[in-house]
Amino acid sequence: MTVSRLRPFGETIFATMSRLATEHEAINLGQGFPDWDGPEEVLAEAQHQIAGGNNQYGPGRGMKVLREAIVADRARRTGQVYDADAECLVTVGATEAIAATALGHLEPGSHVIVIEPYYDSYKAAIALAHCTYTAVPLIPTASDTERFWSLDRSALADAVTAETAMIIINSPHNPTGTILKNEDLQAIADVAIANNLLVLADEVYERLYFNGLSHSSISALPGMRERTIVVSSAAKTFNVTGWKIGWALAPAELLDGVVKAKQFLSYVGATPLQPAVARGLKECAPWVDELARQLEGNMRLLADGLEGLGADVFTPQAGYFVVADVSSWGLGDALETCTRLVKECRVAAIPVTAFVDDPESEKYRYLVRFAFCKRTEVIEEAIARLRDYLAGRSSS
Ligand code: PMP
Ligand code: GLN
Repeated sequence: MTVSRLRPFGETIFATMSRLATEHEAINLGQGFPDWDGPEEVLAEAQHQIAGGNNQYGPGRGMKVLREAIVADRARRTGQVYDADAECLVTVGATEAIAATALGHLEPGSHVIVIEPYYDSYKAAIALAHCTYTAVPLIPTASDTERFWSLDRSALADAVTAETAMIIINSPHNPTGTILKNEDLQAIADVAIANNLLVLADEVYERLYFNGLSHSSISALPGMRERTIVVSSAAKTFNVTGWKIGWALAPAELLDGVVKAKQFLSYVGATPLQPAVARGLKECAPWVDELARQLEGNMRLLADGLEGLGADVFTPQAGYFVVADVSSWGLGDALETCTRLVKECRVAAIPVTAFVDDPESEKYRYLVRFAFCKRTEVIEEAIARLRDYLAGRSSS
């Protein structure tokens, strides 16, 4: 029998929806993986490394060539300086960095604050570490011109207890595509500093932003570097979600806790892929900028398409996903809608309710996440299928 703390967790919504998408030959706008390849240099380097015999365990903290590339790239983009040997750890995707941070830094019984909707692995990592959490919501807000999300700052302040040890934040945010505003980041920093909390900053979408905006890390705010573990990944930056190369950056004494846990989760990740990601970080910045532009174009196509079908769209500022309120489609709540869409319309999407505590909450009940990290013609075909399906229903 599974241990009690993992019993509440079923199959992840991504696995479920991708399986249904395959079964029903649906277009998969559910799980966030791109349907085109990363930079040629990166792919060629991995093949070259394998052919050249770089196929055994690498060093515990990751290959030096990759750690040096990670910190150099961060310094180039943000001006932040991390030491490649003491302050950088290569992990098996951001997922392992998240789990190892929880396991290496949370005493059993500690309390964690997450932002809702939250990426599914946070809750599981907290449970693995025998801890509890409180979800602080992003509030759906509508102005005359747009719908967007902002942090419920008073709920954040109220969520802190004597046991609180960590805040997990994710900006740019999955699923909403929100880049947390500077005021929100500062509010989180103020709470962290006032209560001596650690912050896990999940920045896997750090380079994929739109509308002339950009991302800045909470770790760059005064007093935050020393309490923040930054987590990122090659998955989204180089279209290699299947490689599972991620990393954590933190001051040496903080990183040590992550290293201790990580070494017994996987020991190390795939060796030949590490120099390939290093090459991407060193040589492929223009490719990544172009990727962000392509994603922005796809985002507009999908957001406009959904709006044209009567959905209420929250325009994303970054990342892979657009969230829309689809109550007007009359297909039931978010989960019912996604289940019907994948089977009857052959388009897969993810219910935002999979990322919240209370799926019945009016805030989230009809919200569905659609991925736009897919080729233009695939998004066009998905919109066409949705249009035909919804038209068929209204005429019958
Ligand atoms: N955090 C967020 C917010 C994500 O969307 C994802 C999915 N890429 C991950 C972490 C996991 O990243 P990885 O595939 O590198 O483990
Ligand atoms: N990050 C991806 C998403 O949000 C999924 C990764 C996974 O399947 N665990 O769609």
